[in-house]
Amino acid sequence: QVKGDGRNAYSFFSPDMHASYRTRVSLEKELRQAISRNEFELHYQPLVSLSQDRITGMEALVRWRHPSHGIVAPSRFIHFAEEAGIIHDISRWVLETGCAQLAVWRRQFPDLRLTANLSSRDFDQSDLSDTISRTLSRNGLAAGSLELEIAESLLLENTERVAPRLQNLRELGVGVSIHDFGTGYSSLVSLQRFGVTRLKIDRSFVRDMNGHGNHPIISAIAGIAQGFDIRLAAEGVERGEQMQTLDGMGCDEMQGFYFSRPVDAEAATRLLRDFRPSRMGHGNNGVP
Ligand code: C2E
Repeated sequence: QVKGDGRNAYSFFSPDMHASYRTRVSLEKELRQAISRNEFELHYQPLVSLSQDRITGMEALVRWRHPSHGIVAPSRFIHFAEEAGIIHDISRWVLETGCAQLAVWRRQFPDLRLTANLSSRDFDQSDLSDTISRTLSRNGLAAGSLELEIAESLLLENTERVAPRLQNLRELGVGVSIHDFGTGYSSLVSLQRFGVTRLKIDRSFVRDMNGHGNHPIISAIAGIAQGFDIRLAAEGVERGEQMQTLDGMGCDEMQGFYFSRPVDAEAATRLLRDFRPSRMGHGNNGVP
């Protein structure tokens, strides 16, 4: 996975998209073909609950196995896919593939949930919740087993476009989590109005945590979550002290390289079977 993380494709997949017209045209063509050519893959990163001492969720993260550039990270193509109007097809593929995998996992791990990212552009689709509802029933899954991660900035966008579709998703019963919480300025009213079910503290705040000091932003977010009865998670946990401090601040679910990097489905299955947060640092804990 490290080998082809897309860095060698840097000039081709320029993230700022100042690439030449020809490069953009060929990238668009290749992205359009990537689904039918089966070039997308999902990797999964565990969400860990310390109090339950187990993995409670898996986040599906897409990768593109490009025939000549190796594995391309989503930051290299999602933005472009949004601009080119290809993101809907990618999102559908991610949801279908992730839900099929979740259905397999839930036979052995019945409470497991899947989280998947939705792009702001996915909210252009008036049939968004129907598509998701069909995907769930095709895979025999209850709506509560799926959580959709959206960016905080979505709550600030044109609410006429977003509000009814978020409402439909909540009525369907899927969870809605805000995954970079604290970086935007969504109003507290919108958290309540849209029935947000989880706030995920942005990794930049976790990165800036030092051993002792107080952590005013994280405390404030924890207070909001508690006050609104919204579950709290943190992403980007890389060190044991961060885990301990977050635990002490009432964060009930964590994700980050400290526990595991995103891994393929097979390695994720091993983690589900063997990984226990309480056994961290004690021999083989399922971590690949
Ligand atoms: P995200 O949803 O916030 O996903 C977490 C990203 O943080 C992943 O990068 C993961 O590898 C990285 N990460 C996890 N733990 C740590 C840590 O402890 N430290 C650090 N430094 N990084 C950590 P990845 O897989 O490259 O994904 C980047 C972003 O691309 C995602 O951020 C998400 O916004 C987007 N993305 C990924 N898959 C999809 C998808 O299927 N659809 C859409 N629309 N966006 C996606």
